[in-house]
Amino acid sequence: MKSRIESNLKEAKVLLESGELVAIPTETVYGLAANAFQADAVIRIFETKNRPHFDPLIVHVAGIEGVSEVVAETPPVALKLMQTFWPGPLTIVLRKSSKIPDIVTSGLDTVGVRMPDHALTLELLRSLDFPLAAPSANPFGYISPTSAQHVAKQLGDRIPYILDGGICSVGVESTIIDCTSQTPVVLRLGGTTIEQITEAIGFVEVNTTSSSAPQAPGMTLSHYAPRKHMYIGSIQNLLQEIEGEVSVLSFQDSYPNYRNIRLSETGDLKEAARNLFSAMRMLDADPGHVIIGEWLPDVGLGRAINDRLRRAASQAKS
Ligand code: AMP
Ligand code: MG
Repeated sequence: MKSRIESNLKEAKVLLESGELVAIPTETVYGLAANAFQADAVIRIFETKNRPHFDPLIVHVAGIEGVSEVVAETPPVALKLMQTFWPGPLTIVLRKSSKIPDIVTSGLDTVGVRMPDHALTLELLRSLDFPLAAPSANPFGYISPTSAQHVAKQLGDRIPYILDGGICSVGVESTIIDCTSQTPVVLRLGGTTIEQITEAIGFVEVNTTSSSAPQAPGMTLSHYAPRKHMYIGSIQNLLQEIEGEVSVLSFQDSYPNYRNIRLSETGDLKEAARNLFSAMRMLDADPGHVIIGEWLPDVGLGRAINDRLRRAASQAKS
């Protein structure tokens, strides 16, 4: 099979209605979607990605009205988050409804739900009478795709259709916030910043530390990783320490003597987030054996970017 890369909503709809997988664009990264109410279809997501069954999927809805058939209840704080940040890069974890098969949530009694901010995918969701379960459209553990071409490169012979919606405007995955306990807990840093969430609802806990039995498997350290070794620190120091051909992933500064990608020449964190994954992919394809990078300012989107850099750098390579 070779995926078709097109923007035809009707075709995507027909495939999804017949239980097939379709890669869909969102503002964060491309998702690998299936009917969230149909366990047989959802199982294929895990097979196609080589994703372990303990890693739950996010359910995508067309609007706040669509949440009621996905979750058992919506506490006021969750409603406030939806009203403030949807459509947008915020996934809210709530108690699941009985309509959501266990395979979607890896047996948890909670489900992550969000309304993506992408015109094409919102139109698709509105045309369907079921929500879409969709994790990122990459093989498990590798860097998430931010263009239709990224998806085609890795899953192009495994899925029939990639709905092409251009380059993802945010470029890092959604922030995940668990609203099942008294105080909401951020489980994964992402496209909605802690500062924005705090402003909307006051205090939140942040628990994004990785463990071997994660509540949110995006928390496992082996996520978002290039194949090459990656080191993060002072680029000048790393250049002196590391021998051989290296590629440099810098924030603003330029390193003209090396293969170098700058995330944002003007120091704009939004631009840096948008460029992060495609830059990592490009450097991963370079001849150099190592990628070296630096931390960004640990504020706003910089925190999510640093989180992805940390995970990419901590991947043990075989
Ligand atoms: P991906 O879209 O590939 O980043 O994968 C979806 C991620 O959403 C998972 O890896 C989890 O981190 C998170 N997630 C989905 N459902 C839940 C849930 N019920 N509880 C906690 N985290 C969840
Ligand atoms: Mg993923």
